[in-house]
Amino acid sequence: MIDIHATLESRLAAIVGAAHVLCADADLAPYLVDWRGRYRGRARAVVRPRSTAEVSAVVAACAAARTPIVPQGGNTGQCGGATPDGSGAAVVLSLTRMNRVRAVDRDNATLTVDARVTLAAVQQAAADAGMLFPLSLAAEGSCTIGGNLSTNAGGTAVLRYGNTRELVLGVEAVLADGRIWDGLRGLRKDNTGYDLKQLFIGAEGTLGVVTGAVLKLFPAPRARATALAAVADVDAAVSLLHELKSSLGDRLVGFELMSALSVALSRRHLPALPDPLPGHAWYVLLQADDCTADSPLAAQVERALAAAIESGIVADAVIAQSDGQARELWTLRENIAEAQRRDGPNVKHDISVPVSAIPRFLGEAAVALTAALPGLRFVTFGHLGDGNLHYNLAAPEGADAEAFMANAAHANRIVHDLVAAHGGSISAEHGVGQLKRAELVRYKSAVELDLMHAIKTALDPYGVLNPGKVLA
Ligand code: FAD
Ligand code: ZN
Repeated sequence: MIDIHATLESRLAAIVGAAHVLCADADLAPYLVDWRGRYRGRARAVVRPRSTAEVSAVVAACAAARTPIVPQGGNTGQCGGATPDGSGAAVVLSLTRMNRVRAVDRDNATLTVDARVTLAAVQQAAADAGMLFPLSLAAEGSCTIGGNLSTNAGGTAVLRYGNTRELVLGVEAVLADGRIWDGLRGLRKDNTGYDLKQLFIGAEGTLGVVTGAVLKLFPAPRARATALAAVADVDAAVSLLHELKSSLGDRLVGFELMSALSVALSRRHLPALPDPLPGHAWYVLLQADDCTADSPLAAQVERALAAAIESGIVADAVIAQSDGQARELWTLRENIAEAQRRDGPNVKHDISVPVSAIPRFLGEAAVALTAALPGLRFVTFGHLGDGNLHYNLAAPEGADAEAFMANAAHANRIVHDLVAAHGGSISAEHGVGQLKRAELVRYKSAVELDLMHAIKTALDPYGVLNPGKVLA
């Protein structure tokens, strides 16, 4: 029975306990800002349910009151998707307390988890079972599997294992009216109609609240080779990718591009990091894994790189001789985003184009941007193996931050128009959130937008789930 005179807050407290409905400004503060401090919002409360049943009751109560709900996981998202708007009308639904590994099924190679288990804890649970959950990204200590699903996170092993979308067999979600959809199936084959779980993956909390997932596990790697190769230009990096795919097949797990400036920035903010191949324009960090014992992987990677040096594709290369050295090379790559944040203003792009089009895209974008914004510095890095670059533009050294950021929209237009011209995507892995809502309208066809709105209206007719995100 719902007491219609009770406030929403008191109804929520009756569901989750008063201690888990936060209303004081100081308690709300951490939930109202994204990790980069770019988006700030307000909320009437933060509510922290402990179970799927509690999430269901919370959503039903909010929906009955037509109160917007903003799901929040680890709050590491890049597009302001987990930050409420400035109206103060929303309830932030934090899944902090839902962090149970529900089941490990070694024979089915699956792991069933609550939405708020961190990615690092999922990886650990897989490792404890002698297997691998391959999703990997720099925020893995804080981001959550619910957030990973909701953003269809990519990361550094997509080349071999695919995006989150490819790593999920089942989803449990709470719908906009509070009903629970139990889609926690561990099936690799199931052609019984529409694949509903995919609707909730990449939906950024606009179609339902993900409360649990069945994840695919893989054999754990028994051999690993990690190497850094220096190349003269991006054409050479693309050629190296082709050569390594031919010689290593799907054992090539990661293929990351870093410009010299990206490496320099990373080292400026973590000076203890190595600089094994100084003086080159571009670098590729690559990793190959093999699951078989006595694998000849290390020798094969060495031979492939030697052949690439011989043929002039690669200028120089080093292969990590220990796990520690491999870790340092990855830290060099993974620290770039944080180094940029500390270094000063920058305009970020998370774009993809077909791998073959990357060199031409970069050449054309550099010409257009340099003409428009003289002195601009290009901090180009990312998942070249997937055709996905973090194509970031930093202010000239010593430039006025505000004046530089005033050019952001102009820079976005140049970059995104070129991405579209090359058949690419303006958001390869970080999603849309509030950041790219307007850009989405510009670059998606009317038919595609109609379909998206139709799905949103069907699943969330009153628009209570994360309003103002993805779709305007
Ligand atoms: P949040 O930030 O809390 O939320 C993200 C979105 O999902 C929001 O719209 C939110 O409303 C929604 N959401 C969260 N949980 C749920 C749920 N249970 N149900 C429904 N909706 C929900 N991303 C990549 O893809 N690849 C990378 O390589 C990568 N590298 C990163 C490196 C750093 C240093 C950082 C800080 C971030 C990086 N990211 C990367 C972005 C981010 O880590 C991912 O988007 C991650 O998947 C977000 O998870 P989260 O739990 O922090 O989600
Ligand atoms: Zn990335």
